[in-house]
Formats: sequence, C-alpha cells, structure tokens
Amino acid sequence: MKGILRAPARPPGVVAAAAEFTLHSYRQARTALARAIEVAGGSADIRRLRNVSLSYTGHRNMINQSRRAFPPWDREPASGTVIVDRAGERMFAENYTSYPGIGRFGGAWALNGDHGAHWEPARNHHGSEIIATFSGRDADGPWALIPRWIPPLMLLDAWDSGINLRSLGNTVRDGRPMHALAWTQRDRATITLLVDADSGAFSGFEWIHDDGVYGDVTDRVEYSDWHAIRGVYFPTRRTDWFNHEIARELDLDYRTDTALADDQFEIPPGYSQPQKTEAAARLQKVADGVYLDTQVDGVMIVEFRDFLAVVDCPDSFRIADSTIAALRDAFPDKPVRYVVPSHTHGDHGGGARAYFHAGATLLTTPGHVEFYRRLAQVRRTISPDPYLAPDSGPAIEEFRDKHTISDGTQTMVLHDVGPNAHSAELTIVHLPIHGIVWQADVFISPATGGGVNPAMPIGIEFAEKLKSLGIDDFTALLEGHNRRVVTSEEFRRALALAGYRGYEPFRATQI
Ligand SMILES: [Zn+2]
Ligand SMILES: [Zn+2]
Repeated sequence: MKGILRAPARPPGVVAAAAEFTLHSYRQARTALARAIEVAGGSADIRRLRNVSLSYTGHRNMINQSRRAFPPWDREPASGTVIVDRAGERMFAENYTSYPGIGRFGGAWALNGDHGAHWEPARNHHGSEIIATFSGRDADGPWALIPRWIPPLMLLDAWDSGINLRSLGNTVRDGRPMHALAWTQRDRATITLLVDADSGAFSGFEWIHDDGVYGDVTDRVEYSDWHAIRGVYFPTRRTDWFNHEIARELDLDYRTDTALADDQFEIPPGYSQPQKTEAAARLQKVADGVYLDTQVDGVMIVEFRDFLAVVDCPDSFRIADSTIAALRDAFPDKPVRYVVPSHTHGDHGGGARAYFHAGATLLTTPGHVEFYRRLAQVRRTISPDPYLAPDSGPAIEEFRDKHTISDGTQTMVLHDVGPNAHSAELTIVHLPIHGIVWQADVFISPATGGGVNPAMPIGIEFAEKLKSLGIDDFTALLEGHNRRVVTSEEFRRALALAGYRGYEPFRATQI
C-alpha cells in the first residue's frame, strides 16, 4: 500500500516516469515485433518478396445466418483469392461465401496504386454495376486487407507504420502467453497483434466491432501450421473467431514471386459505372399506402388509417431509427404500431431494438420469439443505444402460419413460408388489395441492370409455396435486399431460366 500514497522512487534503469510511459509502450511493441519478424524469416527476405498470391478454401459456420436462430449453426463453403503485386503496387481480392439455400455470394476488389473498384463477380445480388470505386484515401480500406491475409506483410507494415504501435501488455490465448500489440492500420482501424511470448512467433490478430444482434464483439484471426517459402514463413491454416465461437476455418495456399497477368488487376468486362442517381425522396410510393424506404434497401412501409407497419428492420438500431425518424416526419399522426422482421438474420432483424424503443410491437413466428427477446436484452458499450428492455421483456406478438392485419382500408397478410432451405421460419407479406408480395432471401434479383438470373432452387420452392397459398399472380414482387420492383413476368422468366414453368397465372385465355 505504501507506493499508492507516496510516489515511488524510480529504480535505476527502469523507465517509469509518466512522460515516458507511452514511449516505453512503443519500444516494448517494437521489441516484440522485431522478434516476430525475425521468426517469420527476417526483414530482408520478407522485403524481397515482389508478389504474393493466396488462395483459400474452407467453410464458414453461419453465425446468425443459419436456418435456425441459435447454434448449432449451418456450415457453408467459403473460398477466396488475394494477390498483391508489391513491385507494381497492385492488388486483387475476392471472397465467396454461400448462404443456406440461396447459394454463393461474393465480392471482388482490384486496385492499381490508389485507384480501383469493388464489384460482385456473380452479379446475382448487386448486378452489373460496379459497387464502389476508390481513389486517394478511399483506397486505404481495400489495401488494409492485404496484411490481414498475408501475415509476414502484416509484420512488415506494422514495423514501417511509424508511431502507430503500442504494447498492450501480456495476455493468454488458447492457453498460450501472448504479447498484445495495438496497431492502427492505414485505414485507421486499430487491431491487436498477438505474438507468442515464448516462441516470439506471430500468432494472429483481433479487433472489436459492434454487431446489431450481439452487441460488443471480438473478432480474432488465428494462424497456424506455418511453413517456409524461400525463407519466409506462411501459415497453412486460418481460424476466425467471433467472440468464443469459430466463425470460419480455412486452408491457405500461398505462392510467391509468380508471373502475374495484368488483367488480374482489372475489372472484368460487362460492368458499368454506377449510375449517378438524383437524391431520391426518402419514401418511394409503390401503391396507395405502400412505400419503400429508399435509404434502407428492402424496407417496406404499409400505411393504415391510424398507424403504420414496417416490414423488415435490417442491421442495427441506428439504421432502423433513421427509418422511424423519416416516418415521423412523413406521417406525424401515425405511430409505427408493428414491425415485421422476415427472419432472424441480422440483415433483416438487427434493427428491432429501435422499434421496441419507439413503442412498436414486433410480429414474428414462435421459433423467433426467444431470439428477439435476447436481442432486446444485450448490453452494448461500443455502440450504445437508448433502449433497455423492461423486466416483462419487449413487446412481441407471435403468430403461427398466417396473420392478417386489416382496418378496412388496408390489409396486410403475413405468411410463414418456412421451413425452407434458408430459414426454418420465414415471414413474407401479401397485400391483397394491391396484389403486392414482399419477400426476403427466397428470391433474389440483381439490383441493377434490369435483367434476371436463373431462379435459385429456393426461388422455385417459393413459387410453389405462393401457389399453395393461392397467390397465383401479383402486380409487384418487392424484396428485402434492394429497391427493385420485380414484375410477375420477370419472376416467371427467372423461374423459366431455371427450367421451372409451374408458376403460370390463371388466365381466361388459357382455358
Ligand atoms: Zn437470410
Ligand atoms: Zn438477407
């Protein structure tokens, strides 16, 4: 206790003065990093790498993207490629994951220096428009991917990044003592590098983020099974953690100093620049009393005489809250009485807390009630929101199979179209007065380009389900992932492209 009351004398040779504390932390980090670089093959051999290519395959445990709302999660294949041409200052990355029932989705990035683009290779979601272009500082984001996939380059980048390095002290991961170093990357993200305190070897890195469903999350990447390529050590296994669960397990295959083709760093043919659209009105009218939120793709608002119902609440409190604020402006006399998330995946239900906070009742199927109860109780520090569930829990009303809300002027029918290949329970919305069907993740059309892709098997399953519900035609098919309004003719064309012709509307001429 003595030292607490009186400033301790500084032992000779030990830096303890307050003014030197930060510098001391930096020097400790440099020492641990220098050793890790040595163990990885040494600075000279790593710097000599002209290019590095990685291809990886494995699987993802579909945390919050499975058929069930809770573990055990579905497993889906995952794969990708990362190429960096250090000599030519070019990079390419592509990353693919499959989602239960709806197939493979992916993204690709290519940069030449500080110019480049991001696009969707399969064009089944975003379509044929380039998703984003980069120039100047925007390029820092994609460039920051490179060290995260190529560990020896991460060590070198951290070493070369000037003063963006601190020691966080010692910790333990998987029972092994680790030095933890905080490093701020060029995209301004701060990550924690973990260096094995015994062997001095780099082990992986971690970072924290806010998740709309789970709140504060620690992500960790752990590398293992290292082998040398011309003196530089690369891992052959990567395990990704999401809090205490394994999120992804990959086999890694690195090549160095190979012949690179120029077109590996170019956008493939057939893509167009994003159209510069006029700032759209926040609410896009689809029919009388039916709107889409143009800032939150896929969210549908249904207007009743005295209240509103919102269909889907993606991602997070803040995103959902912006929809609620826009509705207060547009309909000052009509509260949001109901919110209807299609299922429990975060991109459809992560915003539920904002609706609880606004006093709305969440309508869902029996198997999803517990999920939304828990989501309402998560305590958050990274992105705190003002919502706190009462002891009685949030306002949730469950329905089985079918539920109708009608006030004579507007009618909204909810159908559970589960179990299907994507989710054990999944709510779609039918507005019979307008002939509108809204759905999420059972039929996906490219957001841009106007075309349709062959329907995925789950799209055919969905068409069969619509028929069995007696919905044999519609005027507009809305979807939870973009603002596109699909006609029944386009829907049938997508089904026909997949060889299915069973969803033909009943027409007098066909008799
Ligand atoms: Zn989903
Ligand atoms: Zn989705």
